[in-house]
Amino acid sequence: MTVAVRKVDSQAQRLAAVSSQYQKEISGQTRQMVQEINAQTQSSNTMLATVAVLAVIAIIILAYYLEVRVLSRLQRLRQAIDQFGTSRSFDAAIHGNDEIAGIARAFLQLAREISSRETQLVEIAHSDPLTGLANRRRFMERFDTLSRRRRPGDAAVALLVIDIDHFKDVNDRYGHLVGDECLRQIARVIERSIRTTDLVARFGGEEFLVLCTDIDTEGAVVVAEKIRKAVEDTSVTLTDQGVTVRVTVSVGVAAVPPDAPVQSLDFDMMMEAADVAVYDAKKSGRNCIRLSDSQVARLTG
Ligand code: GH3
Ligand code: MG
Ligand code: MG
Repeated sequence: MTVAVRKVDSQAQRLAAVSSQYQKEISGQTRQMVQEINAQTQSSNTMLATVAVLAVIAIIILAYYLEVRVLSRLQRLRQAIDQFGTSRSFDAAIHGNDEIAGIARAFLQLAREISSRETQLVEIAHSDPLTGLANRRRFMERFDTLSRRRRPGDAAVALLVIDIDHFKDVNDRYGHLVGDECLRQIARVIERSIRTTDLVARFGGEEFLVLCTDIDTEGAVVVAEKIRKAVEDTSVTLTDQGVTVRVTVSVGVAAVPPDAPVQSLDFDMMMEAADVAVYDAKKSGRNCIRLSDSQVARLTG
């Protein structure tokens, strides 16, 4: 019995020794594992911190790019478009090869197209389609500007009314197309006879007006006579139809001298005076010039 107890006791002691050995080994391995886990966690943390810093740098760069390369350029583009709306000038100063620069270039082209079409429209709205001369609208605009800016003592202004003589006969004899060509050629003759500062307009039918600035009454008479003579000396040749037409004009002159009150530069008043003078020229046999009565009184008086 004692022998059996001793055997069990020694086996128990051996078991305890083995168990303690295992315990030591397990705790050693556990410590090593914990150390490894700690080391790995540390390296992961360092990596995470690096990634976070890189992300912040990337966000800053992106924000800078967005501000400088996108937002501010878009703002400039919008301002340039707004400016085009008010002043018809477009200068976005956006360069590069990206989409925004492409949009700016496309808009610049569109702006040029719009401006050029507008210029064409203004030109069409202000010119006579048959002769290409200024029309009534442009003439009236020039006259209005002149009378608004007029100050006491400014140089004289003269209005010439030029009416083709017996023009109905030209149409009746040669037809309307010849009449039209005749109007076109007479328009060129008048244009060549006046100064570049004067304005000639077709005011309707076979009637033309000339507005002369910086001229005295005698000067206006000289211009009127030059026109009359130039038309008289012109043979309107229509090669297609094989016809040559000669016409004459009657010219009425009205002028506002420097010493006249500024209100005298009134279109209706001047037109009425010049019309009376044309009527006078017609009565006097046509192909001549006449000054309005008030001007004659001034010249002779
Ligand atoms: P007057 O010497 O008194 O001015 O005689 P006129 O025949 O020139 O004047 P009238 O007012 O009797 O006739 C004007 C003519 O001008 C009649 C019209 O057929 C012609 N006319 C007006 N506009 C045009 C146009 O655009 N083309 C053509 N071919 N003729 C026109
Ligand atoms: Mg007439
Ligand atoms: Mg006539």
